[in-house]
Amino acid sequence: MPRYRLQPTPAQEQVLAEHCGHARFVWNLAVEQHRHWKLGRKSAPGFAEQCRQLTEARAAFAWLRAGSIIVQQQALKDFAQATANYFGHSHRKPTWRRRGQSEGFRIVAVRPADVRRLSRHVGAVKIPKVGWVRFRWSRSVPEGVKSYRVTRDAAGRWHLAFAAIPEPIPAPGTGAVVGVDRGVAVSAALSTGELLRAPALREAEQARLVRLSRRLARAERGSNRRAKVKAAIARLKARERDRRKDWVEKTSTDLARRFDVIAVEDLKISSMIRSAKGTLRVPGRNVAAKAGLNRGILAAGWGRLVQRLEHKAPGRVVKINPAYTSQRCSACGIVDAKARESQAAFRCRSCGYAANADVNAARNIRDTAAGHAVVARGRSGLPERTNREPQPVLLTV
Ligand SMILES: [Zn+2]
Repeated sequence: MPRYRLQPTPAQEQVLAEHCGHARFVWNLAVEQHRHWKLGRKSAPGFAEQCRQLTEARAAFAWLRAGSIIVQQQALKDFAQATANYFGHSHRKPTWRRRGQSEGFRIVAVRPADVRRLSRHVGAVKIPKVGWVRFRWSRSVPEGVKSYRVTRDAAGRWHLAFAAIPEPIPAPGTGAVVGVDRGVAVSAALSTGELLRAPALREAEQARLVRLSRRLARAERGSNRRAKVKAAIARLKARERDRRKDWVEKTSTDLARRFDVIAVEDLKISSMIRSAKGTLRVPGRNVAAKAGLNRGILAAGWGRLVQRLEHKAPGRVVKINPAYTSQRCSACGIVDAKARESQAAFRCRSCGYAANADVNAARNIRDTAAGHAVVARGRSGLPERTNREPQPVLLTV
């Protein structure tokens, strides 16, 4: 996230400090409420409940009411995200914020007209209740800025960071859970049976890329011709990147709209498993190198997809341990290392269930996440389920 040096006037600085104070107050209020939450008790207030309490707090305190509601609401949203990260085991538990330490606030619903360039090295950003504040235009500002964060470091310097983070999408409220598996043959497989493919270069474009690469190898260093070929290659690669990004945006929006809970494998755990398992045997060194490269690109795309899902469906993405998801039969629960006929086909030797291997894995991911949900409900006061999930039986043939 690119960061810029903010240059407020002393009067502006005072309002910025007030925004920081409000954000800190609201954040600490949320921390306080969550501290009272214990296992077995009614669940801690969710984001909607906290928004209601914020409205009450604003009605009660004139100084809070005088501040920006965007700043205060976003502090709550940041806290909700921090809590989701904590429960997703990717971050530590959110704690108190102290004055003068990690001070800052976030502004959302930023319009293109809210950021402008005044001269070569000076820009200005419109901040609610503050007005236009100058910043050093030290690098280009990303396109499609949706929000930004203003922070003050320990030395009292102000910074501005732009982000193109999308607004959360409301859950459909149907209770639907989907498992998503990072496929080998496809980009992603859903437990619904859908196979999703991220777009790549078209065949003609691929051929052109190969031709250009050959031309580049022949071109003389430092020549005009070489620069032109290089630029053409960069354009083609950018086109592929843009298509994949576009696919990630569309896919994450679609999933966030259709499902309440989206279950994915925990990348940190799966990378360990996958590397220990080794990779597909591939003939020839070039092919292996190419396959490795493709995997790298796919992994990056997968990471971006999960990140976007977390932006668009905060608190609704469940990361599960992927152990056995590719070897377990999603119909009868038996774990059988030999059930995987090939990279693409799964056939259970116990019950005969046959499916696309990635879809079978996606269904296991979904079911594991649904099992977590049952445990979570049991904690919140509902009766515990007495019939335990059937434990996977190892098939020893
Ligand atoms: Zn089976």
